[in-house]
Amino acid sequence: MIFKKINPENYKRIVFFTGAGMSAESGIPTYRGEGGIWKEYRWEEYACQEAFEKQPEKVLKFHELRRTEALKCKPHNGYRIISELQSLHTQTYIVTQNIDGMHQRASLNNIIELHGSLWRLRCEFDNLTFNDLKAGTYETLKCDCGNWLRPDIIWFQDMLEREVLSFANEIIGSCDLFISIGTSSVVWPAAGYPKLAKSCGAFCIEINPENTEISHIYDENIRLPASKGLDLLFH
Ligand code: NAD
Repeated sequence: MIFKKINPENYKRIVFFTGAGMSAESGIPTYRGEGGIWKEYRWEEYACQEAFEKQPEKVLKFHELRRTEALKCKPHNGYRIISELQSLHTQTYIVTQNIDGMHQRASLNNIIELHGSLWRLRCEFDNLTFNDLKAGTYETLKCDCGNWLRPDIIWFQDMLEREVLSFANEIIGSCDLFISIGTSSVVWPAAGYPKLAKSCGAFCIEINPENTEISHIYDENIRLPASKGLDLLFH
């Protein structure tokens, strides 16, 4: 299939909806499939509130490892392509399921992090959030109130933040170009957003080397890795 280049000027609002596959070429493992982290670690021991309450230091050590690993990786060319686009088209948003902070490291803006960020901690007792802490210090951090700070991310069995969801709904519901990159779209809201964009009239493109359960709803499917798919569409 021959794809037409995207002319951003033809669109009022562009949304990139990204999942773990967006970071795969940078070296961060995806969730499912080969090298997926939940094959190596049981989430019940490392990524839920119950585990944190039982063994906070073990859980925090695991997340510090995730940060150390993320820092070894660099944003790939696909991030640069989105960054260039954002400098020309200010109504370009990123709605991401990723927690690795890679979009920010690539100097992108208008980012909605559905599942929070590895780079923030919060105290559930004082209702405080701590941003931009340095890697290598998180593991031992406690709040002034004496309680452990937990990563400000959506763990297994957590609810998504209502305000974040409603902002994502508003942005996706009002876009006219929706490009999904590297998500298997098997869990809510990942499964719902492409359908929302489509029902609101957006042109929808999927970039993923593999078929997904909702591939059929897209107007175009690009079976390439993220950076190559973005290059094909925008260069
Ligand atoms: P997923 O692991 O379920 O699916 C990844 C998808 O990416 C697959 O469909 C795969 O075919 C595709 N993919 C693999 N390599 C690709 C590439 N080079 N270019 C484009 N696509 C590629 O990931 P998901 O749908 O994002 O759901 C996973 C959940 O786990 C999310 O909730 C996310 O928060 C979390 N997670 C985040 C990270 C991260 O922050 N980088 C990593 C792993 C998991």
